[in-house]
Amino acid sequence: MSLICDNLRTVRERIDVAAEKSGRSEQDVTLVVVTKTRSVAEIREAIACGAGDIGENYVQEAETKYGEIGDAARWHMIGHLQRNKVRHVVEFASLIHSVDSEDLAREIGRRAEAIGRRVNVLVEVKVSEEPSKFGVSTDDVLRLAEKISEVSGIKVCGLMGMAPFLPNPEETRPYFSNLKKTWDKLPDEQRIYLSMGMTQDYEIAVQEGSNMVRIGTAIFGPRA
Ligand SMILES: *Cc1c(COP(=O)(O)O)cnc(C)c1O
Repeated sequence: MSLICDNLRTVRERIDVAAEKSGRSEQDVTLVVVTKTRSVAEIREAIACGAGDIGENYVQEAETKYGEIGDAARWHMIGHLQRNKVRHVVEFASLIHSVDSEDLAREIGRRAEAIGRRVNVLVEVKVSEEPSKFGVSTDDVLRLAEKISEVSGIKVCGLMGMAPFLPNPEETRPYFSNLKKTWDKLPDEQRIYLSMGMTQDYEIAVQEGSNMVRIGTAIFGPRA
């Protein structure tokens, strides 16, 4: 067994333990394997070890890798997305996690429709006041989700959020529980995915109700 396989198994086991604390199991949580900066060979290895969902941050990088790997996995765009890159993304993304404006949602819908697709999207929520974070404020989430629910070419499937980086991961808990509370207020048909939790805090996120985690470092090691 390779290190990547071992790490994947360990992460799944930890997700399982965390999910049990909220009455669920590992199978209720989608593991998005985050592969920014990783090679195609590393991604193939993760897929061979059972990874079914791959997350990338940068459009150009994702497009190149998709060109080599294709539909052997589902592709998630998790990074901030510029409107002028949308045309490329709709060709291969199965879920875009980072919709933070009506404009962006409409552009995704327009480009998706043009190629006969309907693309699943999440609204990215700014869960902390850190100035560098993208996303819409908690107060505006439900309004934006409602507004873009009518846009054709997209389907709103839930929310994504990132806790601030805190030295003690336990301190992230209130950010996740608040995001879960907001998610609970979405209409049924939009309450499919709650994407929260990364290497340093995924167990807490899952305990608080996350059903989709995005993990890179715990699987591949530190990024260069
Ligand atoms: C890089 C990244 C991750 C994964 O981070 P790790 O700490 O390597 O697990 C998750 N979500 C987003 C939005 C990212 O940019």
